[in-house]
Amino acid sequence: MNVAFYTLGCKLNYAETSQLQALFEQAGHTPVKFGEPTDIVIVNTCTVTENADRECRQIVRRALRTSPNAFVGVTGCYAQLQPEEIASIEGVDAVFGAKEKFQIPALVPRFEKFETPFVFVSDIGEELEFVESHSADNDSRTRAYLKLQDGCNYKCSFCTIPLARGKSRSMEFAVIPEKIRNLEKAGYQEIILSGINLGDYQAVDGEEFTDVVRMIEEMKTNARLRIGSIEPNLLTQEIIDTVAQSQAFVPHFHIPLQSGSPDILKMMRRRYKVEYYHDLIHRIKTAMPHCCIGVDVIVGFPGESDEHFEETYQFLQELPVSYLHVFSYSERENTPAIEFANPVPPHKRAERSKRLRILSAKKKMEFYASQLDTIHSVIPESRDDLTGKWRGWTENYVRVEFSAPQGLLQRPMKVRLLSTDGEIVHAECVDTTDTQETVLPEYIAILM
Ligand code: SF4
Repeated sequence: MNVAFYTLGCKLNYAETSQLQALFEQAGHTPVKFGEPTDIVIVNTCTVTENADRECRQIVRRALRTSPNAFVGVTGCYAQLQPEEIASIEGVDAVFGAKEKFQIPALVPRFEKFETPFVFVSDIGEELEFVESHSADNDSRTRAYLKLQDGCNYKCSFCTIPLARGKSRSMEFAVIPEKIRNLEKAGYQEIILSGINLGDYQAVDGEEFTDVVRMIEEMKTNARLRIGSIEPNLLTQEIIDTVAQSQAFVPHFHIPLQSGSPDILKMMRRRYKVEYYHDLIHRIKTAMPHCCIGVDVIVGFPGESDEHFEETYQFLQELPVSYLHVFSYSERENTPAIEFANPVPPHKRAERSKRLRILSAKKKMEFYASQLDTIHSVIPESRDDLTGKWRGWTENYVRVEFSAPQGLLQRPMKVRLLSTDGEIVHAECVDTTDTQETVLPEYIAILM
């Protein structure tokens, strides 16, 4: 049977959809693009998405428009948290929880429309297995996300992820080199180490994320390695030092802050203080002045006064960070924060979000401008045939565009950064010695 997938939310969800797709293929089904006629539709949901319910309904409707008789299954974080709500969506045939996500092909004997939807959602409990997965980031297959860790033991007061994904668990330490080599052999030029709380990686034999970074560094990989989002309290000096002298790990970190106000940070139950975060960013920039640093921030958390928000704004304005991911707080059932006093009115949340987005654009412009007239390595990803320009990311996460011949896909090359409008940096090739060959190596199947 044909099966189509739709994914909402984080990169980990995309990696898990890829794994699900592989399971369906092993069971004899054929993947097709979402929107094409199909027999089965699987929607992998997210709880962080605002209006998850509305979004889920829309996707189911879209799927049924082209394939009115398709079996529709919904899984993911939102399915774990609100199974009954999802089961009530017209057209949904089954809901699968976190434990059942990777058993869908086995759980459903016949993929056909049911009168009453089935709910395969069990209590998340204490013990959830770690399920390996990886996914390609884009059509050119230059970057792959490798999931090393899942779940979270933290108790941030606004977050439902621990309820949806369960306790922290990690990939076996000894198998990591093989997974990395498999991705390299498959032609990926960049591997992004990912997890829900990646820095909390903990192998059964006690190895931690710092050990993972050290071990991968010693492997001498050809692919470049990027560390996905990492909690500030888990980003150790050893990781910073390893990345600073590494040929493989790139100078780019994404470090959630959430608030620059000590009072709000405490209410959020985050595990660090603003002083620590400030010091961390400066230590990184001292070790790697060209390092790109991205920051997650939440505005409009309950009790966030104008003064608290100004603290966050000033804190970020003065920090040498490169861009912000801004989220407006939204109430989530079963979280402590939903009970907190003094909710911030929606228009204030929107205003604060806008101010931080403007600050983010300024930060990015400043970071891009600071990199002009320097030479960087870029992996060409896509080419506009009309302009003949290639696009890709430098190692320190600058989006670049440059003219070069066809056939470069997936070959890292050197470019000099020339000018920027804040969105993209225009660059020129300075070394095309290894662009003579036309590339696109044959991808070999990877058994993850
Ligand atoms: S660290 Fe906090 S915000 Fe991140 S997943 Fe865990 S509980 Fe949620």
